[in-house]
Amino acid sequence: MKKPAFDEKFRFIKPTLPGLDSVVAAYASAFSEGLVTNAGLVARFEAMVAERLGVSHCVAVSSCTSGLMLVLKSLGLTGEVIMPSFTFFATGHAAVWNNLTPVFADCRPDTWTLNLTDVESSITPRTSAIIGVHLYGNPCSPAALCELASRHNLKLIFDSAHAFGSCSQHRPIGQFGDAEVFSLSPTKLLVAGEGGLVTTNDATLAKLVKLGRNYGDSGSYDPAFAGLNARMSEFNAALGLTGLSLVDSKVSRHNEIADHYRNSLCDLPGLSFQTVLPGDVSTYKDFSVIIDETRTGISRDAIARALLEHNIETRKYFDPPLHKQLVFRNCAAQRPLPVTESSACSVLSLPIYESLPDSTIDGVCKALRSILNRPANPALEARS
Ligand SMILES: *Cc1c(COP(=O)(O)O)cnc(C)c1O
Repeated sequence: MKKPAFDEKFRFIKPTLPGLDSVVAAYASAFSEGLVTNAGLVARFEAMVAERLGVSHCVAVSSCTSGLMLVLKSLGLTGEVIMPSFTFFATGHAAVWNNLTPVFADCRPDTWTLNLTDVESSITPRTSAIIGVHLYGNPCSPAALCELASRHNLKLIFDSAHAFGSCSQHRPIGQFGDAEVFSLSPTKLLVAGEGGLVTTNDATLAKLVKLGRNYGDSGSYDPAFAGLNARMSEFNAALGLTGLSLVDSKVSRHNEIADHYRNSLCDLPGLSFQTVLPGDVSTYKDFSVIIDETRTGISRDAIARALLEHNIETRKYFDPPLHKQLVFRNCAAQRPLPVTESSACSVLSLPIYESLPDSTIDGVCKALRSILNRPANPALEARS
């Protein structure tokens, strides 16, 4: 075989973490006092996040999944919840755990986020809420979704797992709807090891989520509802709050890499990219391309295999879409989701993280071009 573009595989994702010394320094007093869970660091982290995002309440939890479960529970939802199918399965699991029926709406062909027209036509008398997803960090028109939800008297929640650091029309993601829920697991930009953050301007909801993360118990030893243990530990809070100062530079580096990919690949026929609307900022947690096999003449899966032979790992975020997965087989009679289906079966996510050098991005682009038999790119040539 031809010489691979890279001699060895490099990691698909590698989070940049704050210096260990600074994490230990933040954690030291909690540790020495024996306060290792649900104490001062968690409270400080929550206050710093609320301040940064300009939102009244932030409740730290053990994961985005548990945060979503608690938000849906605390809102007392029933019946159907409209959400995209082109997302990570945890969005849907949170609804299923609450005995809610996910109803999947299609996504837009440009932003790959919820299509609001399709959301509106999915509303039935049983609908109680909408869950928007800022896919890869791309804001899903939250203000327009707010308007739609309030017009139909529906609750609105955002799965903001990818979007810590994103902005919609110059407003931070975290301020929208009844609540937004972030993930702090290592594939996201703000990393706490494991963890989630619920942000809301609704004091009652914040209080219920706080109760819910603590078994539902307010201290009376007679919980008002069946909660979880979804607390964040002090160590995770130390890691998260130390990492907060890195977020802005991570977002800008992710955007640089995304621009680099786009500039180097934009002349390739059959490749399309996610549109970020003017006035919005995406974290680019992932950089994905959609491959139109009828124009490239080679399938997404064959491209992924060929890239792997060059020691380049890729992912297919998020294929299969939820409505094709076992857990969701019993969901309400589904409308057709043509954009979701064609996007999911042709999506390919390329490596993107802060510490990837430009030379690696160039190597990935060159390998991809050679696989597609388009080795020369005038833009690349001009640069070198
Ligand atoms: C990662 C992710 C989650 C789950 O986050 P956890 O913190 O691991 O529970 C939920 N939704 C989306 C869209 C995700 O990508």
